[in-house]
Amino acid sequence: MYNSDIIVIGSGPGGMEVAAGALRRGLSVTLIERERLGGTCLNRGCIPTKALCSSASLMRAIGSASDLGVDVSSFSLDYNRVLDRKEQVVNGLRDNVAMMLSKAHIVEGEARFTDSRHVEVNGEVYAAPRIVIATGSSPASLDIPGADLAIDSDAILELKELPASIVIIGGGVIGMEFACILSAFGVDVTVIEYCKEILPGFDKDIAKRLRSSLSRLGVKIITGAQVTSIAPGKKVEYTVKGNAATVEAAEVLMAVGRRPVIPEGVEAAGINVERGAIVTDETFATTVPGIYAIGDVNARMMLAHVASAQAAAVMGDDINLSVVPAVAFTLPECAMVGLTEERCKESGLNYKAVKSLFRANGKAQAMGDTDGLLKLIVDVDSRLILGCHVCGCHAADLVQEAALAMSAGVTVDNVASAIHAHPSLSEILHSAAAACR
Ligand SMILES: Cc1cc2nc3c(=O)[nH]c(=O)nc-3n(C[C@H](O)[C@H](O)[C@H](O)COP(=O)(O)OP(=O)(O)OC[C@H]3O[C@@H](n4cnc5c(N)ncnc54)[C@H](O)[C@@H]3O)c2cc1C
Repeated sequence: MYNSDIIVIGSGPGGMEVAAGALRRGLSVTLIERERLGGTCLNRGCIPTKALCSSASLMRAIGSASDLGVDVSSFSLDYNRVLDRKEQVVNGLRDNVAMMLSKAHIVEGEARFTDSRHVEVNGEVYAAPRIVIATGSSPASLDIPGADLAIDSDAILELKELPASIVIIGGGVIGMEFACILSAFGVDVTVIEYCKEILPGFDKDIAKRLRSSLSRLGVKIITGAQVTSIAPGKKVEYTVKGNAATVEAAEVLMAVGRRPVIPEGVEAAGINVERGAIVTDETFATTVPGIYAIGDVNARMMLAHVASAQAAAVMGDDINLSVVPAVAFTLPECAMVGLTEERCKESGLNYKAVKSLFRANGKAQAMGDTDGLLKLIVDVDSRLILGCHVCGCHAADLVQEAALAMSAGVTVDNVASAIHAHPSLSEILHSAAAACR
């Protein structure tokens, strides 16, 4: 039997952060990983998709370069080199992770619980007073005839050639990111979304803005539609407003969410699992003392930075877990923090919402990137920021200032009184804050 101070199962952003934090504290760490170091985020999630997104964004920028007086006589996509670059980025970061965790005892294989104190991998038993489950999630699928004819987000990253056309089932963050990447690469894209609007969970004005931008670029988006089957020949059958319809494409991507990955033996060890996710309290402790579950496996919020934040909290760092920015790296980007306007209305809050347009901003005009909107929502009585929602270039970075203000309990008046550099996109938030005065 192999003993250590802490066992970490899974090396995604959650597991990696726990292991690194434990090593910094001088603890002995056993890190168990059944695939490659870095988890979903590094190998088939955040990083590879953002590498593709950068190539896609450049394609779009070159396409409109003549608007900025730069004539590019011809340009084309070399998808093999796009894929090679993506691999280089991922491999380089994975080397960094391996170096950072070099003092951990890394075990390659699948972990399963034999009881509440022991984990077995390839016939070897490991024990520790603290065990952290960070086993992440895997793509979900619809239970419909022909579902196996679709590929998932893991498989699409492995395609060596781009399809001429694709139907994406699911207009959530992952589906819309792939829709933007593939459409910029010249693929004919159709998105079918069950809800009335794409990007469920985002503020409706932001989602609508993205939908309009993509529709102008030729992406077909069908909302309020239920996919019923996929027939041979990749014919996607769906119903919309009671009418049956079919759309056919060279490829079908299933992007309907993700399910936690629960290690074998968890429930026998006394760890509660409800609705497919490990149950945790606010400290991410499971129902067994000494065992924690962080990241996608507890299904609280399936985001890489949430997994890392929960990991840091488990290791005793002071983390504000109540303010979480979320981003869809679409083209243009969409980002949010806090409450949507729909949620403020439902909750009967006394709020004020102010919109600020990118086209009124000097930097956005100079950049030639004026397609965007920022919405700031403020509590009328306390003056605290309730939410900030952005669709436009650098939305992820823009929303972060509002996230910091919310996390620190800073009022909208404090944001308005702070000098923002000119010309900068940050003035878009500043003018919204000033309009709230
Ligand atoms: C296409 C895509 C794009 C995404 N983009 C973003 C983004 O831009 N920003 C963002 O915040 N989030 C993004 N996400 C979500 C993000 O990847 C996840 O939220 C994050 O990876 C969760 O981290 P985790 O540590 O919980 O688990 P994971 O990263 O899933 O890692 C879990 C690890 O545990 C291992 N494992 C599982 N079971 C066992 C076992 N029994 N024994 C040993 N090892 C095991 C797995 O092999 C895996 O390596 C994206 C996801 C996808 C699919």
